[in-house]
Amino acid sequence: MQTIATILFLAAGVCFIMGLKLLGKQATARKGNFISAAGMTMAALGTLFSIIAGTEGEFEAGTLVWIFAGMVVGTAIGIPAAKLVKMTAMPEMVALFNGFGGIASLLVGWAELQRHYDAAGAVAAAVEQLNEAVGAAGAHADAAFGVGVSSAISIFLAIFIGGVTFTGSVVAWGKLSGKIPSPPMLYPGQRVINGIMLLGLIACGVWIAVDPSAQAPLYISIILSFILGVAFVIPIGGGDMPVVISLLNSYSGLAACAAGFAVNNVLLIITGALVGASGIILTRIMCLAMNRSLMNVLFSGFGAVESGGGGKGSGEQKEAKILTPDKAYYMLEAAQKVIFVPGYGMAVAQAQHAVKELATLMEANGTEVLFVVHPVAGRMPGHMNVLLAEADVPYEMLVGPEDINPTMESVDVAIVLGANDVVNPLALEEGTPISGMPIVEVQRAKTVFTMKRTLGSGYAGIPNPLFYLDNNYMVLGDAKATLQALIDEYKSDS
Ligand code: NDP
Repeated sequence: MQTIATILFLAAGVCFIMGLKLLGKQATARKGNFISAAGMTMAALGTLFSIIAGTEGEFEAGTLVWIFAGMVVGTAIGIPAAKLVKMTAMPEMVALFNGFGGIASLLVGWAELQRHYDAAGAVAAAVEQLNEAVGAAGAHADAAFGVGVSSAISIFLAIFIGGVTFTGSVVAWGKLSGKIPSPPMLYPGQRVINGIMLLGLIACGVWIAVDPSAQAPLYISIILSFILGVAFVIPIGGGDMPVVISLLNSYSGLAACAAGFAVNNVLLIITGALVGASGIILTRIMCLAMNRSLMNVLFSGFGAVESGGGGKGSGEQKEAKILTPDKAYYMLEAAQKVIFVPGYGMAVAQAQHAVKELATLMEANGTEVLFVVHPVAGRMPGHMNVLLAEADVPYEMLVGPEDINPTMESVDVAIVLGANDVVNPLALEEGTPISGMPIVEVQRAKTVFTMKRTLGSGYAGIPNPLFYLDNNYMVLGDAKATLQALIDEYKSDS
């Protein structure tokens, strides 16, 4: 039985590594997801077999009932949740998944310590009886607590990181879903208080390592890590949630890795390390995409600043020019090179199929069409890529800001489709909240059509001077409806 479990664990580990590799490319991502899911099934079965093997024939059927009940409840919640979640709510779902990963690791660590408390309790009772029996002869025995220093540290880390990940992810979920105000919540002495909590946790870690049988540091660690998770995320503005989510993703992996060491489960160690490493790589990519350090993201309270760039921007005092789709069509129809810059508004409007249809009509009309995907466009890493892939936009049509910016002057029309922050030229000026963030520099295209519903600001909450530039036209309305009107124009003209 143990051999079968080991083989299943090995196969699951291989599946996870292959799945991760395949997930890196759009064309193979579906296959990667399937292989990873198969790996997870093998991991669950392997765990089951190894539990049965560990009980050496004394496996209680009641335990199986608990395990299957957990699997049934999890499946019953997981399948409808995955099917029903709207594409726009996907980042919230990812945040919750990270949180569940964190709490699972915390529970594994806690259960492992609890198992030893129970065992030590039983041994202590037996030792007491023994001492009573031999007491007259002067011999004495002590009950030993069966957790070594390294195990105790692993258990503490699983609890500490898991707890921070859980509540931090719940706050991230709340901020993204609008259930908690998205601007940073700052208060005096915030960093000092967080620092004291961190020191308190480290002290608990040392206490647990020195005396794993002490229960007080366990409970203090759980409470402090929950509070620290909340305190860690509330001062971070909604605009920085992409980085926070990938960082929490990494934490959930580290917590799982620590839990793996705590219960001596090699697969959990491998999986946790993979998640931890990939999460931190993604965090770095996101920081680079915004040209900010991780420290700046975590501690600057970005977004709390009084709309610093609001008064800046060359053309802001002017009136924005409004264009109707039928007028926009005449300019588009004559254009040789058009780029689409999708943003969160495309996800809200579910306009990915309409934009694909329009791009196809444009190409048939002899226009070169490209999609410029900014790394933080939308509300989660890869948000735009997922939507465009769903609409079968060929991967070759997708480029990044760094590919198009050097040749932006050659673009006849740049269509900003429900994007805002990622095309805000204030990023190129000093002293604004988004200064230094790389943007798609559409303002240098010959003509810009900005398709959104109002002249309002984007997620970072700052005005966009692009709307008032001479070469920009606002095509106001729901992105899908605007695109549909353009599609109708193309069709009626052909
Ligand atoms: P923004 O949030 O800056 O702008 C989106 C725009 O879409 C809004 O200004 C809104 O304007 C418009 N919009 C909303 N609904 C519609 C609709 N139905 N039709 C047309 N337009 C619509 O999005 P960007 O993608 O440009 O930038 C992403 C921002 O989100 C960045 O600040 C990024 O840091 C942040 N972020 C990114 C995450 C990620 O992982 N990618 C995660 C969390 C935050 P109006 O209301 O006037 O229509």
